[in-house]
Amino acid sequence: MKPRERLCLLAVHAHPDDEASKGAGTIARYSAEGVRTVLVTCTGGEAGDILNPEADTAEARRDLARARLAELRESAAALGYSRVCLLGYRDSGMPESEHNRHPDAFVNAVPAEATERLARIIRAERPQVIVAYGEDHSRYPHPDHIRAHEIAVAAFEWAGEAAGPPGGAPGGGEPWKPSKLYYVGWSGEMIEALHAAFERAGLESPYREWIRRRPVEPRRFTTRIDVGEFLARRRAALLSHRTQIRPDSFWLRLPDEALREAWPYEEFVLARSRARDAEAGGGWETDLFAGLRAPVSRGAR
Ligand SMILES: [Zn+2]
Repeated sequence: MKPRERLCLLAVHAHPDDEASKGAGTIARYSAEGVRTVLVTCTGGEAGDILNPEADTAEARRDLARARLAELRESAAALGYSRVCLLGYRDSGMPESEHNRHPDAFVNAVPAEATERLARIIRAERPQVIVAYGEDHSRYPHPDHIRAHEIAVAAFEWAGEAAGPPGGAPGGGEPWKPSKLYYVGWSGEMIEALHAAFERAGLESPYREWIRRRPVEPRRFTTRIDVGEFLARRRAALLSHRTQIRPDSFWLRLPDEALREAWPYEEFVLARSRARDAEAGGGWETDLFAGLRAPVSRGAR
């Protein structure tokens, strides 16, 4: 296989730690299979709080961006990422926070310019598959997550066009059209399964409120990746983010064995596809590269 044809998966995340909580097992799985995996983190997480008292040191307080970058690198290594790219924007903070007004905040970036930065990485890496966030941010309306979604969709569309996005520079590199764009998310079915697992284990479920409200799902999930063998890596990635995740966090409370039994999957919506035969015949798609892998040689038969 020519180097150019190597399978590559590129994930777009808003902050250091998002890569550990959204689709992390999937990255660990594809990395272990030899797929090139590229992480794009849009901001440095500067506006985050130190949520773990054990990591609340003078050093972390003095330079949170530096502490979070070190955590990000450790997490990415645990997941097997081939490369970590920082898009270079500042964390915009939650809606209405003073961080929103910082001129370097991601939310204040010119969309075409941010798209062009991402498109440049896409052109250099030539991923067949891009994983990003969906358009529904009602569960977590962070401005950086909304912006990360917008630029991922725009870059998916424009990285293959020599002209570049409207209002943006044409950008460097040879145009490259990624084949599939996925949104990573949590289905209601997954939350129900995890809720039940918490109850079975006699633990307080963090999903009680969701179960009570049962919001309508905006999109049908199309794709389920079995990450049962990669839960330890996902846990290691989460634990890397010492300033953000307490050891007693709900993310870590269920043992991997209970998780594997309750819900060994990560779920995705196939949002855009240029691949042939991308739609699995009514059932669950079980591979992000479905329809993109080289066919098995017929001559061998
Ligand atoms: Zn985030």
